[in-house]
Amino acid sequence: MTPERVALTYRGRDRTYRELRERTYRLASALDVGRGERIAFLGVNQPAMVETFFAAGLLGAVFVPLNARLARPELRFILEDAQPSVLILGEEQDGDGLPGRHLAAADYERVIASGSPEPIDEPVRQDDVCLIMYTSGTTGRPKGAMLTHANLTWNTFNLLVDVPLAHDEVTLVSAPLFHIAALAQTLVPTVLKGGRVILEPSFDVDRTFDLIEAERVTVMFGVPSMFGFLARSPRWAGADLSSLRHLLCGGAPVPEPLIRMYQDRGLTFLQGYGMTETAPGALFLGAEHSIAKAGSAGVPCFFSDVRLVASDGSAAGPGESGEVYVQGPNVTPGYWRRPEETAKALSADGWFRSGDVGVADEDGYVRISDRLKDVIISGGENIYPAEVESVLYEHAAVAECAVIGVPDEKWGEVGKALVVARDGSTVEAGELLTYLDGRLARFKIPKYLQFVAELPKNAAGKLLKAPLRELYGSGLH
Ligand code: AMP
Ligand code: MG
Repeated sequence: MTPERVALTYRGRDRTYRELRERTYRLASALDVGRGERIAFLGVNQPAMVETFFAAGLLGAVFVPLNARLARPELRFILEDAQPSVLILGEEQDGDGLPGRHLAAADYERVIASGSPEPIDEPVRQDDVCLIMYTSGTTGRPKGAMLTHANLTWNTFNLLVDVPLAHDEVTLVSAPLFHIAALAQTLVPTVLKGGRVILEPSFDVDRTFDLIEAERVTVMFGVPSMFGFLARSPRWAGADLSSLRHLLCGGAPVPEPLIRMYQDRGLTFLQGYGMTETAPGALFLGAEHSIAKAGSAGVPCFFSDVRLVASDGSAAGPGESGEVYVQGPNVTPGYWRRPEETAKALSADGWFRSGDVGVADEDGYVRISDRLKDVIISGGENIYPAEVESVLYEHAAVAECAVIGVPDEKWGEVGKALVVARDGSTVEAGELLTYLDGRLARFKIPKYLQFVAELPKNAAGKLLKAPLRELYGSGLH
């Protein structure tokens, strides 16, 4: 135990482990929330979010972090689904139009002060759910992936087998904690080891360089586009990066030129593949293989199994592609109140179907080669075309539409909408994009919108996305 060490630094203010622990006990006792009840949090990274996460864990309650980028109708849907006992609002958030009981940021310190600093002895079991993270789905309806204490614990073990985090790490957390990677790959393992977390409300290139240099940051997690922004910054050449020990990168494939730019500075990425439902680590590529196995997402994490299943259900051999299945103590017990969706994704013997396609080489290193699920991954955020299309269809001028992903140097992929306008309509692209604003999170709004005469379909009238991607997915947008 290291009560006097700094646990959290936020906006230049340090909080020790003793303070964090006491505040967490106070919050837990003041909230008056029972086992299994949900505690939602809306906001970007901030100490209250970390305290809420730990307080929920102490109570045997369930932390439900909400993506602060979502539009009101999206937040309402999730809150109605999760039915939290309380929604804690972060700084700069208001609860207008959101259902249920709220705790405003202005009242947060008063609530902490009213709680008891005495330890709580609620018997919490490893199999208790401690987290629900919403991911949208191919149906266009967000669903809550449940994760247990055991899931997060085993993910931490998986990480620590490959990344020897020390007790004196200084971990920069600027990726959003409402996504699993920042929470489970950086916050939890750093705190477990007694290191220091530097919490940032969001990612900012200049701030990142300032902090790396001033705080001597040793660990950083980012999606590839974040590392790309740093490497393309004018600060890159002159920056002192000598303190960095571990660069964790995941969420999307890391482009080889980016790996090389970092390699030239003596820095190698620890790359990973995973998803919310696997808490998240499934495949891991150590720094020593980052060039030799560039393009690969690695081998199964130590305590987890991964297999590749060909379309006929047999095991895919080396060089053959198959859907990635994951099994292990880090795999979700299912989706919150969605037995059918759970049954579709999770087999009786615990294999989770990722919806991604992978190919293993002779040494067992898996490259993620394709996706079966219709999702666009843009700068670490998932965009489900079905969700965007369903909102576009609500506009009177839209007869038909389809959203596809197109390559983008900055974000990896961005969305492009193809729209067949109703006969006689004079609607313009700008009007449709404005229509989406406020109904969908900004990051889901297609970067491009093109009117087309028709969309390709099969004999049964089902829209075919593959030919659409071929026709409109490359070249100039
Ligand atoms: P999420 O639902 O937000 O947890 O996103 C998980 C999805 O991100 C996976 O199912 C993959 O499609 C994608 N993904 C994550 N890591 C990688 C990676 N290293 N390479 C390729 N795709 C990845
Ligand atoms: Mg997902």
